[in-house]
Amino acid sequence: MHEARYYTTLEDGKVLCTLCPHDCHIPEGARGACAVRYNRGGHLYTLVYDRVVSRLVEPVEKKPLFHFHPGSTAYSIGTVGCNMRCAFCQNWEISQWAKEHLPKHASGSAPMPLVCPALSELEGRVPGEPVTPEGIVESALAAGATSIAYTYTEPTIFYELAYDTAVLARQQGLKNIFVTNGFISEQPLRDLAEVLDAANVDLKFFSDESYRHISRARLEPILDAIRLYHELGVWVEVTTLVIPGVNDSEQELKDIAEFVHSVGEDVPWHVSKFYPAWKMMDTAVTPVETLRRAVEIGQEAGLRYVYEGNVPGERSESTWCPHCGALLIERHGFRVRANRIQNGACPDCGTSIDGVGLG
Ligand code: SF4
Repeated sequence: MHEARYYTTLEDGKVLCTLCPHDCHIPEGARGACAVRYNRGGHLYTLVYDRVVSRLVEPVEKKPLFHFHPGSTAYSIGTVGCNMRCAFCQNWEISQWAKEHLPKHASGSAPMPLVCPALSELEGRVPGEPVTPEGIVESALAAGATSIAYTYTEPTIFYELAYDTAVLARQQGLKNIFVTNGFISEQPLRDLAEVLDAANVDLKFFSDESYRHISRARLEPILDAIRLYHELGVWVEVTTLVIPGVNDSEQELKDIAEFVHSVGEDVPWHVSKFYPAWKMMDTAVTPVETLRRAVEIGQEAGLRYVYEGNVPGERSESTWCPHCGALLIERHGFRVRANRIQNGACPDCGTSIDGVGLG
C-alpha cells in the first residue's frame, strides 16, 4: 500500500480524508466512501496506487475533449473505485467494484465509511495489472500518444497514482487530462492543476437533491471545482448526460448552460445521449430531439461551442465557426475527418477559435 495524501490523523485514531468534499472520518481498519482509501494505525493508505483495471489508447475526442489537440490520442488509464455512486453509471462494474466486492461488515455502505475486518483480507484482492508511474509514461510514449488521460472511474480517488504519473509525463512532453466528476477539494485541485493540461468535468444535474439522491454527492463543490479548474488555466470542457425525466427539463438544461457560460463562453458543453445502465435500466434512451433542443439552449445562453454526444452523424458533432458559421472540424463519432483551423483561427473569417493545439 502507498501512503495517501490529504489527510489528518485525529486524536481517537481516526483519520480525516480531505481529498474530496465527502471529508470522510475513517476509523482504524476502515475505508472511506470511495472504498479505496484505508486507515491503518492512524495513517491513510491508497489501495490503488499500483494497479490499473483498464488502459487503452483512444482518440481524445472520446473523453470527450473537442478543443484540445483534435485528432490526437490519449493513453487512458483507470483503477477501481469512485467517490460517487451514480445509479446510471456506465462503468459501475469497476467504479463500484471495491464497494461491492471487498470484505466489509454488513453495516458498511457508501457514503458511510466501509469497515474492513483486516488488512490481510484486502491485500491481493484489488483487481488490475500492476503498474508504476514510470511504466505508464513509457507505455504512453511507446504508443505515440499526445496525452495521458486519467479516466474510466473517478481519477480523484486514484490521485496519488495520477499525480505522480502526471509529473513524469510532463517531463517527457506528454499532456495530462482528467475526466472527472468534479468532486474534489480545493487544495488537491490546486496542486493537480500545476501538472494538468485539460479536464472534462461532468455536470450531471443542476439540483443538489439529484446529486444527493442519484449520485450520493453534492452540487456546490462541483460548481466550485469547474470554476477553479478554469481559473487556474486548465482547459475545461463540461459534459452533461441528458437523462429523460431526470435532468432534461428546459429549466435544468438552461440552468446548466447559464452556469457554463458564467465560467466562460469559450467552455465547450457536451450534451450526451443516455443509454440505460446499472440501476436505471428502465429509463428511456434520450431522444435526439431533446439533444438538439439542449444544443439550442446552450447557444441561447451564449455558449460558442455546444456538442451532441453519442449520436454519430449529427451536425452538432462538428465544430462550426461561432462568427461566420463555416465548418471547421468535421467529426463522425470520435473520428476527426477534417480540420480546417489554421493558426487557431477560422480560415474563412479569421475569428480566433478557443482551445489548445487546434491547428
Ligand atoms: S470518498 Fe474517498 S477520497 Fe473522498 S473523502 Fe472519503 S476517503 Fe477521501
